[in-house]
Amino acid sequence: MTQQAARPHPAVSADTAFFWEGARNGQLLVQQCNQCSKLRHPPGPGCPGCGSLEWKAIESTGRGTVYSFAIHHYPPVPGFEYPNAIGLIELEEGTRLISNIVGIEPDAIEIGMPVKVTFETFERDLTLPQFRPRAS
Ligand code: ZN
Repeated sequence: MTQQAARPHPAVSADTAFFWEGARNGQLLVQQCNQCSKLRHPPGPGCPGCGSLEWKAIESTGRGTVYSFAIHHYPPVPGFEYPNAIGLIELEEGTRLISNIVGIEPDAIEIGMPVKVTFETFERDLTLPQFRPRAS
């Protein structure tokens, strides 16, 4: 049996550590501006709406819909399975994030399809939020 290559780890910075720690705890956390309440993802130090540096993390329900998606076939990146379905997920809280769509044949994925977060732990301590179909 061949050993599958290790999945590449995301870069973790002071701004994104909360997100990965949340994922390890089974929580999908989203940054919310303390000043104007705008949600943002990917995480960053300043609010793109009002520029405030004050923020907190809120827990998303993990429910959303497929806003758009792409099926990655080539070139293959070690550590991923192919075909690799990559979706832009619109969370019901109103922000979007890029993630894998799992538990469905890539041909069956549709724009607007309801999905829910699921957490998959890979080797070492890498836990990634991924999305699978849910009943609407
Ligand atoms: Zn703001």
